[in-house]
Amino acid sequence: MPYPKLKIDIKKIKYNSSRLVKESARKGIKIAGVTKVVCGNPYIAQSLVDSGIEIIADSRVENLEKLKEIKCKKMLLRIPMPSQADDVVRYSDIVLVSEIFTIKKLSEQASNQNKIIDLILMIDLGDLREGLFYEKEILETVAEIAQLKNVKLLGLGTNLSCYGAVIPSKEILEKLVLIKNKISNLFNIDTEILSGGNSGSIRLFEDNQIPDGINQLRLGASIILGIGIDHLPINGLSADTFILEAEIIELRKKPSKPIGKQGLDAFGNKPSFIDMGIRSKAICAIGRQDVNPEDVSPLDDKINILGGSSDHLILDVTDSEKSLSVGDTIKFRVNYGGCLSLMTSPYVYKDFSDS
Ligand SMILES: *Cc1c(COP(=O)(O)O)cnc(C)c1O
Repeated sequence: MPYPKLKIDIKKIKYNSSRLVKESARKGIKIAGVTKVVCGNPYIAQSLVDSGIEIIADSRVENLEKLKEIKCKKMLLRIPMPSQADDVVRYSDIVLVSEIFTIKKLSEQASNQNKIIDLILMIDLGDLREGLFYEKEILETVAEIAQLKNVKLLGLGTNLSCYGAVIPSKEILEKLVLIKNKISNLFNIDTEILSGGNSGSIRLFEDNQIPDGINQLRLGASIILGIGIDHLPINGLSADTFILEAEIIELRKKPSKPIGKQGLDAFGNKPSFIDMGIRSKAICAIGRQDVNPEDVSPLDDKINILGGSSDHLILDVTDSEKSLSVGDTIKFRVNYGGCLSLMTSPYVYKDFSDS
């Protein structure tokens, strides 16, 4: 397989997934497996289903379309674009929503397509990304949804630790349970799902801090990369699921400080350099078009990333104990952002191993 190559260890992803499925089941929680960090990759989605996950969730309708052959429920995570309502209805079973305008469009489309769409009404508990914030708005929206024929209020959900970086807590999630009870009392509607957040909520497992009533988590980063709140590794999960390998196209000794009057670099920034004399520098054939250089780190900790342009990654390999040549490859760990963009880049070859 050509380079750059992203090696994906399906076995480790399956291990993470089945561990989280089992641990959650003990607490009465079901997992929606989130595939957006792997660009809705069907091979990975299938492995999540094989490990016991019943709902696959993604933020993009286009990704859910790629997964249409996989036998499981599909959940759309990002609040839908009204203009996309027809495809949303076509490719999703469950949709996270907040805007009544869009909900009405979904109901219309669902009627055209002879379907009933399940809704999770998003409640903003302080992270300030999507969701209804004021109780009055929540109750008004529930009342309006109850009037619509082709949508069903399946549950309530919230998302934390994304925009506002709010750390999930028992007190915060209890608010979701209170709203559920209020809706039950006022409208006699049983919102059967309470979707209590993303991988950031797993930390609450440890000291039994998930309130009764929360029965779903939407997990991506924890399953795919073994990380949770603040991008920290989760105990007992595999974190080394992805390795990037890029090929050296130039290996030369050069000064560490550019020669000549300095302007702006390829991205409009003014870089600064420390003069470390002559260094051995490798250029790998991968660039910002594929991944941000800050989102990958060499496995060989004696190699330093100096920077990158659209198609080049420049490394200082002077201190590496390996003897490198042009045509050799360098391996890198990747973080969440790195995984997201490498999986999205069509120039990066994906190498799945399942052994
Ligand atoms: C991305 C996302 C998730 C999954 O987040 P992870 O941190 O990858 O577990 C869950 N819910 C929503 C609404 C999301 O956008």
